Amino acid sequence: MNTNFTEPLRDVPLTVVGGRGPHGLALHLWLQDRGLSGYRLVDAADDWLPLYGPDGPMQAVGELRSPRELDFSLGCAEREMARFVDEDGSRPLANVYSLQDAACETFNLSATPENRAPRLAFWRYAGCVARRSGADAHVLKAEVVRLEPVSQRVQDTWRVHLADGRSFETAAVVLATGLKPHLRIPLPWRVWWQHLPEKNKAHALELRYQELAGKRVAVVGSANVATWEAAICAAERGAKVTLLSRAPAPIEWQLPFPGGWFRADGVAAFMALPAAKRLRVLKKTHIPNTSLPGLAARAEALGVRVLHYARVQYATPLWSGVQLQYKTVAGDYAEYFDLLVAATGVSPRLRELPLIADAARECKAPVVVGGPVRHRPILDDTGRWKNLPPLYPMGAHALMRAGFGANTLASAAVYLPLTLPHIVKSAGLESALPTREITYA
Ligand SMILES: Cc1cc2nc3c(=O)[nH]c(=O)nc-3n(C[C@H](O)[C@H](O)[C@H](O)COP(=O)(O)OP(=O)(O)OC[C@H]3O[C@@H](n4cnc5c(N)ncnc54)[C@H](O)[C@@H]3O)c2cc1C
Repeated sequence: MNTNFTEPLRDVPLTVVGGRGPHGLALHLWLQDRGLSGYRLVDAADDWLPLYGPDGPMQAVGELRSPRELDFSLGCAEREMARFVDEDGSRPLANVYSLQDAACETFNLSATPENRAPRLAFWRYAGCVARRSGADAHVLKAEVVRLEPVSQRVQDTWRVHLADGRSFETAAVVLATGLKPHLRIPLPWRVWWQHLPEKNKAHALELRYQELAGKRVAVVGSANVATWEAAICAAERGAKVTLLSRAPAPIEWQLPFPGGWFRADGVAAFMALPAAKRLRVLKKTHIPNTSLPGLAARAEALGVRVLHYARVQYATPLWSGVQLQYKTVAGDYAEYFDLLVAATGVSPRLRELPLIADAARECKAPVVVGGPVRHRPILDDTGRWKNLPPLYPMGAHALMRAGFGANTLASAAVYLPLTLPHIVKSAGLESALPTREITYA
C-alpha cells in the first residue's frame, strides 16, 4: 500500500474510486487472473468492504439477502464463499442458498437464517480473498475529492484530486463510491428534520447502535432495506423501540426475485437490449418491497411496538428529546422520543456527488429525468457515462444498463466482469488481454 505522502504519485491507466468496496476487489481479481496490472484502488477506508464491517452502515443487518453466487469467486472455485474457512476453523458460508434453491416456489417459507450469509462472516471472507490475492498492493489510502476532465489529443482523460492535495492522471475511472453519500430524507420532512439537534436524529445507515441502551427510539419510514433490521438491532441493544410503518403488514421476501437479474446470461441479455427497451422493462417490472422472512416475528419477540398505517407529520425538539407527531387510522398523536431513526433509504444522484458534480455539469453529462431510474446516469453501450472522459459508474448508478441486480453484489460479481473488456480498452490495457477476452456485449 502506498503511504508515502511526500512522493508524487505516478499516473496510472485505470483507477477505481471506492477501490476497497466489492467493485474494487472484483476488478482486482479479474485483472490479476488475466495477468494485468496498472490499476490503482483509491479508498479512504482502513479495511476491505467497510460497508459490511462491524461499524459500517450495514451494522443492523445480521444476514445478507443475496445467494451464494454473488461472491468473489469470479470463475475461480477456490475463492467461492462456500469454501471459506473462518479463524475458528468453521465454514460459516457453506450453507448459503443458491439461485437454484430460490427458484422453488416454497423457498421463502422454508428458508431460515442458516441459509443466509452472516454479514460479518462475509466481510471476513472478502478480507481473506483480498489479502490472499495481494490486493493491498494496489490500494492507495486516500479520499478522492474531485475528478477533473483533461483534454488530450487522442482521448480525454481524468486528473484525480485527493484530499491530501496530491493528484495524478488516469485514462479511465471506475466509480464505485456506493450508496453512503446518497442517504435520503423525504422532501416534506426536510424542513423539520434539519432543525432537530444532531443527538436526537440519525439515518439508519449512520446510526451508532452501541449507544442506545435505555433510550426511547422511533424508527420512522419504510425503506426496502434496513427498516426492520434497524428496529431489531436497536431493541437488541436495549432501546425501547417503536416502528412507524405506513404499510398494513410487512412484506417478507428473500432475494432473489427472478434469478435472471443476478445471472451473467440474464444480465448480458438485458444489457444487449436497446436503451428504450431496457427502460420499458425496468418500468414494467414489479419488484416487491422486501424484508427478510422472520424479521417481523423477531421484532415482536423483542418487544418492538409496531404502528401500522402510521404517517409521520412533524417533529420538534422538546426538553432533551423530540416530540413526534403522527397520524394513524385511529387519529392524530404526539409522542416523546429520545431519538428518531430515519429508515428512509437512499436516493442515488450521481450528478450531485461532490467529487464529480463540477465535471458532470461542465460536460453536460446526462441523467434520466423520470420513471424508476430517474437521476441515474445515461450510459452508452459500453457502460460509460455519456459526454465525459471514460468513466464507468457501478452499483445502483448502473441500474439502467445492468438491471435490478445493480442494487446488489451482482453489480460487482456479474455486471462489472461483463463491462471490464470495455474498461480495459479505454484504459489502454487491451493489448495485454488474451484475445478470447476481447468480446463486447
Ligand atoms: C443496509 C444494506 C444492506 C444490503 N444488503 C445486501 C445484501 O444482502 N446482498 C447484496 O447483494 N447487496 C446488499 N446491499 C447492497 C450493497 O450496497 C452492495 O452489495 C455493494 O456493497 C455496493 O458496492 P459498492 O462498491 O458500490 O459500494 P460500497 O460497498 O458502499 O463501497 C464504497 C466504497 O467507496 C469508498 N469511498 C466512498 N467515497 C469515497 C471517496 N470520495 N474517495 C475514496 N473512496 C471513497 C468507501 O470507503 C467504500 O469502500 C445492501 C446495502 C445496504 C445499504
